[in-house]
Amino acid sequence: MAKLWRKPLDHVEKAPAAGHVFIDKQRCKGCGYCVEFCPRKVLQMSNELNPKGYLLAAVVDEGKCLACGFCEVICPEFAVKVIQNSKPLE
Ligand code: SF4
Ligand code: SF4
Repeated sequence: MAKLWRKPLDHVEKAPAAGHVFIDKQRCKGCGYCVEFCPRKVLQMSNELNPKGYLLAAVVDEGKCLACGFCEVICPEFAVKVIQNSKPLE
């Protein structure tokens, strides 16, 4: 993809917020929906098992998170919480 040679004057003001993502290990059932729907590949399935024996989703690259909330909305177990940072992504 071509690199933009200039940026909009309000690119800092309009930049998407960064997010913190938390996964409740007790609730996650390893369905992988959050991993599939994350547009920035912030989440991946891990090899860690929770007490119920499900493989857990894990946050692997939180720095790329847009705080879009897709993962939170799609999770059928209400296991994901996204908190929007006040500092925008650069
Ligand atoms: S909030 Fe959006 S970008 Fe961040 S982990 Fe969830 S789906 Fe991915
Ligand atoms: S969508 Fe929810 S239950 Fe499914 S893997 Fe992600 S956190 Fe776990």
